[in-house]
Amino acid sequence: MDSRSSGAYDDVRAASRALATEAVHAGRDDLAGQGLHVPPIDLSTTYPSYDSRDEAARIDAFALDGAEPAGPPVYGRLGNPTVSRFETALARLEGTESAVAFASGMAALSAVLLARSAMGLKHVVAVRPLYGCSDHMLTAGLFGTEVTWTDPAGIGEALRPDTGLVMVESPANPTLGELDLRAAAHACGTVPLLADNTFATPVLQRPAEQGARLVLHSATKYLGGHGDVMAGVVACDEEMAGALRKIRFATGGVLHPLAGYLLLRGLSTLPVRVRAASANAAELVRRLAADPRVERVHYPRIGGAMIAFEVHGDPHEVISGVRLITPAVSLGSVDSLIQHPASISHRIIGADGREDAGVGDRLLRLSVGLEDVEDLWADLDNALGERAITPVPLGEAVR
Ligand SMILES: *Cc1c(COP(=O)(O)O)cnc(C)c1O
Repeated sequence: MDSRSSGAYDDVRAASRALATEAVHAGRDDLAGQGLHVPPIDLSTTYPSYDSRDEAARIDAFALDGAEPAGPPVYGRLGNPTVSRFETALARLEGTESAVAFASGMAALSAVLLARSAMGLKHVVAVRPLYGCSDHMLTAGLFGTEVTWTDPAGIGEALRPDTGLVMVESPANPTLGELDLRAAAHACGTVPLLADNTFATPVLQRPAEQGARLVLHSATKYLGGHGDVMAGVVACDEEMAGALRKIRFATGGVLHPLAGYLLLRGLSTLPVRVRAASANAAELVRRLAADPRVERVHYPRIGGAMIAFEVHGDPHEVISGVRLITPAVSLGSVDSLIQHPASISHRIIGADGREDAGVGDRLLRLSVGLEDVEDLWADLDNALGERAITPVPLGEAVR
C-alpha cells in the first residue's frame, strides 16, 4: 500500500472520477489539507531519523517485497515524495494499483527485463514493430534475454516454460500498426503482457483494462508533453511494482524530483493536449490522404496525434523542407516534430529488422502538436514540394 496515498476515503471518492478530473487532482489530494495549492518539490537525497530501529524495520520491509517504505522517506534511491505523487497520478490514469517511475523509458524497460530474468525467465516474446531501441535491446539480448519475434496470432504458440514477458506496442512506433490488446493478453495466459502505451496515452486507451499486466510509457513524450523532461514509467499491480522498485534501488535509474514535478504538471493538461493535437492530426490525415504527392497515410483506428506517411518523392527532401515543424526525433510535445525512422528512430535495428517490422525507406513519422492546423498544413504542403506523380528513386543515404 502506498503510504503517501491519501487514505481510504479519497480512494473511494477517486474511483468515480472522470479522467479529466484525475488528471488535475490525482497525486494532489492531500495538498489543500496541508495548506498548499501546488505540490512541493522535495530535493532531499536523505532524510533524518532519530529512530534507527524503526528505520531498520522499514528497510527490512522494502527488502521483502519492494513496498514503498511506510512513514518518512529513507534515501532518494528508495523513493521520493514528489516522484511518488507523479506515480500515484499515473496509476490512477491508467487504472492500475501502482506505478514506478524511472530516469527514461529505456530505464523503465530495462528494469522490467531485469526483474523477469532475475526470476530465471529469460525468454521474451515480442511483436514488431517496437520503438527502435526497445527492438534493439531485445534483439541484442543486452540483459541476457532471448527474443522470439512473432505476429499477434502467433503469441500463444511462441510461449515457452521460461517465457517471462510478452511485449507489444499499439499503436506501434513508427508505423502506427494496431493490435487487439485483449486478444494478445488472452493468448499470454499467465505470462505478463507488457503494452507500450506511449503513443496512445491513457486518454485514448487503457491497456490494463484489456488485460495488460504492465503498461510502459516513455514519459519523455506525451506525459511530460513539452519536450523538456526525460522519464519512463511502468503502471502495474503492486506485486510487479515491488519487483521494479527493488531493481530501481539496485541500479539507481531513479527519476529526478524536478522531473517528477514537471511530469505531474504535464499530466494535468494531458487530456486537453491529446484531444487538441489529435483533432489537428485527423485534419492533416484527411489532407495528406487526398494529396497526389503522398503514397499512403497510416493513422490508427483509435486516433491520436501521431501520423505516418509514405511519399512518392524523396523523404529526405521533406525533412529538409520543413520550417515550422521541427525536424527532430522524439514526439508528444506541444510543437510538431517530423523524422525519418529509417535514418533515426529505427536506424539501430538495421535494414533486416526494419524490413521485418514493416518500416519502409519512404516512411515519415509526424508528431502533430498544438499549432494552428492551417499553419501546419502550409508548412507540410511546402515541404512536400513539386507535385511529383512518378516515384523518384531514393538516394544513397537510405540504402
Ligand atoms: C521514445 C520511446 C521509448 C523510449 O523512451 P525514452 O524516454 O527515450 O528512453 C520507448 N517506447 C516508445 C514507444 C517510444 O516512443
